[in-house]
Amino acid sequence: MVIETPNEMSFDYSETQKMVAASAKEFAEQHIRPFVMEWDEEQTFPVEVFKKAGEMGFMGVLVPVELGGSGLGYHEYISIIEEISKVDPSIGLSVAAHNSLCTNHILTFGNKDQKEKWIPKLATAEWIGAWGLTEHNTGSDAGGMNTTAIKEGDSWVLNGAKNFITHGKSGDISVVIARTGEKGDSRGMTAFVIEKGTPGFSSGKKENKLGMRASETAELVFDNCRIPDANRLGEVGEGFIQSMKILDGGRISIGALSLGIAKGAYEAALQYSKERVQFGKPISQFQGISFKLADMATEIEAAELLLHKSAFLKNEGRSVTKLGAMAKMFASEVCVKVANEAVQIHGGYGYTKDYPVEKFYRDSKLCTIGEGTTEIQKIVIARHILK
Ligand SMILES: Cc1cc2nc3c(=O)[nH]c(=O)nc-3n(C[C@H](O)[C@H](O)[C@H](O)COP(=O)(O)OP(=O)(O)OC[C@H]3O[C@@H](n4cnc5c(N)ncnc54)[C@H](O)[C@@H]3O)c2cc1C
Repeated sequence: MVIETPNEMSFDYSETQKMVAASAKEFAEQHIRPFVMEWDEEQTFPVEVFKKAGEMGFMGVLVPVELGGSGLGYHEYISIIEEISKVDPSIGLSVAAHNSLCTNHILTFGNKDQKEKWIPKLATAEWIGAWGLTEHNTGSDAGGMNTTAIKEGDSWVLNGAKNFITHGKSGDISVVIARTGEKGDSRGMTAFVIEKGTPGFSSGKKENKLGMRASETAELVFDNCRIPDANRLGEVGEGFIQSMKILDGGRISIGALSLGIAKGAYEAALQYSKERVQFGKPISQFQGISFKLADMATEIEAAELLLHKSAFLKNEGRSVTKLGAMAKMFASEVCVKVANEAVQIHGGYGYTKDYPVEKFYRDSKLCTIGEGTTEIQKIVIARHILK
C-alpha cells in the first residue's frame, strides 16, 4: 500500500510569517503593553496606537500594495491579530474589525473608483473603519433589520440605527447595510459607505462593557441621512449576501483573536504554576494542575490547526463558510475555557487586576458572541453538512 502525502502540506511557519509575527509582537510590547490596564479601566480607545499600527502595515494587511496595503495573506493576518491579542485583545478586536469588516467589504465589493477613494486611507489608518450590520432588535437575525435606505433621484436617504458597532464614534468611514426591499427577503438589503460628518449621520450611546474595554463599541444613528448613489457598494439587493461573505473571512480573524487570548492566558498560567508553591512544591507538580495545562495546550494546538486550514482555503480563494465557522466556534470556546482555567490556576490572585488572566477572562467572552454566536456557527456548520 502506498500512502500519499500532499507535497505542499507543511506545518512550519514561512519566513514571512515568522518575520510578521515578530514585528507584531514587538509592536504590541512597545506600544500597547505599558498602557493595557489604564485603557481598560478608563475605556480609552487609543486612536494614536492605530495610526502607529497603520505605519507598520497592520491596518491594511490584506490590501494589495498598489492600494497602500501590505499585500499579505491570511496566515500572516492570523499572526498579527494573535500577537496583538496576546497582549491586549481589545486592540486585536479593533484591528480585526477595521481590516476584515470595513476595509475588506470595500476591497471585495467596491468598484475601481470606490477602492481608489477609500482603501488607501483605510490601509494606512489615516481613517479608522467601522462596519454596521447589527441593530437593537436584530443581531443573529440580522436579515430582519429595520434601518431603511430609500432612493430619491441620485441619492439614498437612510433612517434607523445600528447597534454594538466597533468604532461607532471614532470611525471616519462606515460600511452600513440597510433595507432597500421587503423584510424577510435576503435580496432586500444593500451596502453603503457613509463618511463621518455626513449630515443626518451621528453616533449614539457608547457601551460600557465587561471586557474589550479599549475597543470602542457604539451606536450609529441615521436621521434622514442623504448619501450619493456613488456610495453604494455593489448592486442594489446584494448587501446581505455580501455581508455573509465578509463574515466568512471575519470569522478567521475572531478565531485568531481567540487564539491570542488562549495563548496569552495559557502562557501566564504555565509560568505561574511553576512559581507558586503550595504544600512544599510548585503547583505544576500536582496532577490536577498539570492535567489542566495539558488540556489547554492540546486545545490551543487544535484551534491553531483549524484556523490555519481556514487561512489556507481563503488564500486559495476557496469557500471557508463551513471551516471558518468551525474554526471561529472552536477557537472561541477554547479561549473562554482556557481563560477560565488560567484564573483557576492563579487561585485568588487570578481574581485580581495584578495578574493578566483577570482581563483575558473578561475579554474572552466576546469571542463566542461577536461576528456570529457559537449557536449561529452551529447553524452554519449544520446547514453545510446536511445539505
Ligand atoms: C464588543 C462587540 C463588538 C461588536 N462589533 C460589531 C460590529 O462592528 N458590527 C456589527 O454589525 N455588529 C457588531 N457586534 C454585534 C454582534 O455581532 C452581535 O452581538 C451578535 O451577532 C449577537 O447578536 P445579539 O447580541 O443581538 O444576540 P441575539 O441574536 O439576540 O442572541 C441572543 C442569544 O440567542 C441565541 N440565538 C439567536 N438565534 C438563535 C437560533 N436561531 N438558534 C439558537 N440560538 C439562537 C444566540 O446564540 C445568543 O445566545 C458587536 C458586539 C459586541 C458585543
